[in-house]
Amino acid sequence: MQIETLLAQAGMRRDPATGSLSVPIYQTATFSHPALGKSTGYDYSRSGNPTRAALESVMAEMDGGAQSCAFASGLAALDATLRVLPAGTRLVVSEDPYGGTVRLVEHFFRQCGLEPVYVDTANTRLVARVLKKGRVSAVLLEIPTNPLLRVADVRALAQLAHQYGALLIVDNTFLTPYLFRPLDHGADIAVYSATKYLGGHNDVVAGIATAKSGEWGEKLAYTQNATGAPLGAQDSWLLLRGLKTLAVRLERQQDNAMRVARFLETHPHVRRVYYPGLRASPGRRRLSRQSRGYGAMVSFEVDRVERVSSILSEVRVFSFAESLGGVESLITYPIVQTHANMDSALCARLGINDRLLRLSVGIESSHDLIHDLSRVLS
Ligand SMILES: *Cc1c(COP(=O)(O)O)cnc(C)c1O
Repeated sequence: MQIETLLAQAGMRRDPATGSLSVPIYQTATFSHPALGKSTGYDYSRSGNPTRAALESVMAEMDGGAQSCAFASGLAALDATLRVLPAGTRLVVSEDPYGGTVRLVEHFFRQCGLEPVYVDTANTRLVARVLKKGRVSAVLLEIPTNPLLRVADVRALAQLAHQYGALLIVDNTFLTPYLFRPLDHGADIAVYSATKYLGGHNDVVAGIATAKSGEWGEKLAYTQNATGAPLGAQDSWLLLRGLKTLAVRLERQQDNAMRVARFLETHPHVRRVYYPGLRASPGRRRLSRQSRGYGAMVSFEVDRVERVSSILSEVRVFSFAESLGGVESLITYPIVQTHANMDSALCARLGINDRLLRLSVGIESSHDLIHDLSRVLS
């Protein structure tokens, strides 16, 4: 079946007892056993819950993996994934990842003996150089990066990582399996903040990790149970509900994003626009070879810093808020919000400056979105 069909029917036909079209929310901590040595397949909801299982099986199928595990947040999914890596090794990380990823790696994994090495993962040669030095257990990258939307060559990096005995882990939050399936390109594990596009309505915090092989799937499931941050039944159901419309939401969102990016590109008060779908974008060709779309995140730099505060306070259709991926459009100020803890020299080198704004484009009328930006930019 095509992914649109899988999505629309996410969680259906899971309850032969009643024929309930929507998977029931199994709001239970524990399950009774019919007899000694007999089980329904479930015994305690941390280890397994039928609503969560419905979500996990849809995600595994969409990602083309052996096993998906659903967690209480994207960071919990990332935490469980990194815990399967051996101590005394190095972890290659995109140099401009999600801020929470840096906090997790620096404050918890470094002291457990996993040494992070930050590299521009859009530059395959730089990653190769680190791998050659040895002791790398995994490469963790985001595609495209945030907020500058740089694009890595996932297939080349997967080959390279495997050549040195390392795993490739892709944080695929921005594209989702509807647009890009990292495991098809050789990645070993795909990780998601499902809070963003997968949920899509800014109403649930959740995470997913999908392993390509049964072996790594088992390790993830073991960690999910042993460290205890699985997604609850209610939130699993909300995520299933969100998934049903992922395909139509994303089509509309990227269509809107392209229109917004084109509008910004020609605006006299906008200096640069970052959107991989634009003809002039350095990541366009590489992304189009890997993915069926460019996503719906757009960053842009205004000509003068004085404009920023009025833009943020005067937007009416966009909301000034952190996060992304929902049906509602948001505007974020990376240097103050999402990237406040990033090294300032690195920010300056990358181009994350006090004139840069990031948009998560939603499903509203593109006319209203553009009108809103036009008004606050003038
Ligand atoms: C939001 C985000 C995360 C963290 O996910 P939470 O659900 O907020 O814990 C990780 N990676 C990326 C790319 C994100 O955007």
